[in-house]
Amino acid sequence: MHNEENEEHWSDHAICRGADPDLFFPIGYSVPVLQAQEEAAKAICANCPVVSDCLSWALKVGEPDGIWGGTTPEERRYLRRTAEAPARKRLPVIVVRGDASESEHASAA
Ligand code: SF4
Repeated sequence: MHNEENEEHWSDHAICRGADPDLFFPIGYSVPVLQAQEEAAKAICANCPVVSDCLSWALKVGEPDGIWGGTTPEERRYLRRTAEAPARKRLPVIVVRGDASESEHASAA
């Protein structure tokens, strides 16, 4: 018989359980304070056994706030954009040599 109550979830092994939530959802009054809070949270994530599960989940649900899997919201947006990049159609590269007035002048001579 399937018993979901006894199944473990990756978050059961999160080492941030019991940590100060303000660290993971930094609200600073200046850039240095925000950076210090982010770095403190990331230092905890760096030792977390479920960091990849946590990051995968945050990317999957598009978690817009807080530190998850050792990343800031901006870092996760970057990861999502770069992961989607190969699917985008690449535009041709157009190389422009010289300027138009030079070629007109050369053909007139
Ligand atoms: S990776 Fe960081 S935010 Fe995620 S569960 Fe671990 S300590 Fe918490």
